[in-house]
Amino acid sequence: MRRVTIYDSMSRATRIFAPMQPPRVGLYVCGLTPYAPAHVGHGRTFVIFDMVARALRRWGYRVFYVQNVTNLDDKLIARAAAENDDPLALAERHFAGFLRSMERLGARSVNYYPFATDYVPEILEQVKGLVDRGYAYVADDGSVYFEVAKFARYGALSGQKVEALKPGARVEVDPRKRAPEDFVIWKAATPGEPSWESPWGPGRPGWHIEDTAMTGRLFGAKYDLHGGGLDLNFPHHEAEIALSESATGLAPMVEYWMHSGLVAMTGEKMSKSIGNVSSLEQAIDDFGPGVLRLYYLNASYRSPVDFVPGKSLEEAREAYGRLSAPADRIAEILERDGPDRAGDPLPKELEEAAERLVDDLDTTLANDFNSREAIALLFGWARRLAEILPQIERLDGAGLTALAAPYAWATETLGLFERTPGARSGGWATVVPLLLAARARARARGDYAESDRIRDELRAAGVEVEDGADGSAWQFADAK
Ligand SMILES: [Zn+2]
Repeated sequence: MRRVTIYDSMSRATRIFAPMQPPRVGLYVCGLTPYAPAHVGHGRTFVIFDMVARALRRWGYRVFYVQNVTNLDDKLIARAAAENDDPLALAERHFAGFLRSMERLGARSVNYYPFATDYVPEILEQVKGLVDRGYAYVADDGSVYFEVAKFARYGALSGQKVEALKPGARVEVDPRKRAPEDFVIWKAATPGEPSWESPWGPGRPGWHIEDTAMTGRLFGAKYDLHGGGLDLNFPHHEAEIALSESATGLAPMVEYWMHSGLVAMTGEKMSKSIGNVSSLEQAIDDFGPGVLRLYYLNASYRSPVDFVPGKSLEEAREAYGRLSAPADRIAEILERDGPDRAGDPLPKELEEAAERLVDDLDTTLANDFNSREAIALLFGWARRLAEILPQIERLDGAGLTALAAPYAWATETLGLFERTPGARSGGWATVVPLLLAARARARARGDYAESDRIRDELRAAGVEVEDGADGSAWQFADAK
């Protein structure tokens, strides 16, 4: 199996990846709290971990990838109240939108999306265990708190000192807590909120404990790899470690911690309009999934990236065009003539260069998932192919396929150049209206056989046409 190294945020070092039971890998990534539509920043985290899972699978690991859905918390309850909606229904709706965006982005690596409220029995069991073992205490109102002072290693991941959380450091005093750094793991119910029966009265899960209840159930006390955005490092991941290791008595909870850098929104002053331009779904509509994935992966996954509306994705689109042009040309020729097309054989030197490149790409990505460097290698290949385009036009099918191997590698691992419905090029947007105009002319002259024929041909190509009072609208059948 390929040697993979990972920068582990806990040890602050790059380590050789050695899962507990190879080739099996347990991967847990903190998922979405779907109280609003996902934005461009969410997309980055989940495309990065999609790339991690894709790459590990390519290298022979059997990855079980779990990503939770926090479908009940204070934000959801507040938002639902403002919209006169039920918090669980609101979460369900926004999660469905998120899944649609993930599907379009080609981020399909997750094996299981557990919902927090489906794990209430496991959460209650863990809360009870923590109370019994003296790590957690019950407040007067029936809420249960984890007592941070009881867990000596608290702060090891983030380097945060508990002292920094003492009052005076802008921490509100809560009379229910023994110490300000203690955090709630079971919340006494407020009337009108969804709640569950517990030994301490009706309540609902606190935030951090859903993760450890899920991983305890799905992976056991210890697993291989935990991922999430850097903003979750503290307090969330610190709290996860404290909860799991206190509840099970086994450490470390996880062997490798991976944190992805955040997307910094430029011009936050215009936050009202930002809401719109940073919508993930809108960005996919406007630029296509390949451009977004290039924008996300053409940077070290650990670095922050800027998102400048109207600029970042335009630049990525231009780069994606340069990168994909030779691949598009090869795909066009192969789609037209088939893989057995006759032509010149590929010169040995180019065949070897393509093979060597695929090997270099694997080595590069296996070095702490250095997608930026891998993409730089792909740009080099795109430039080389662009220079020999006339020669490419004469190659036989096997030669073309061999030249495209680095692109096939990028599709498998980085999810670039995927031929998904959302990735369909602008060509459709030009051709379909021309056909619809031809169809309208046929109808105008009463040639309904021709009009129906055009509609049927479009349908066969996956395009649904709907006739309305002011002309015909169309969409891809599988986009419904
Ligand atoms: Zn989490």
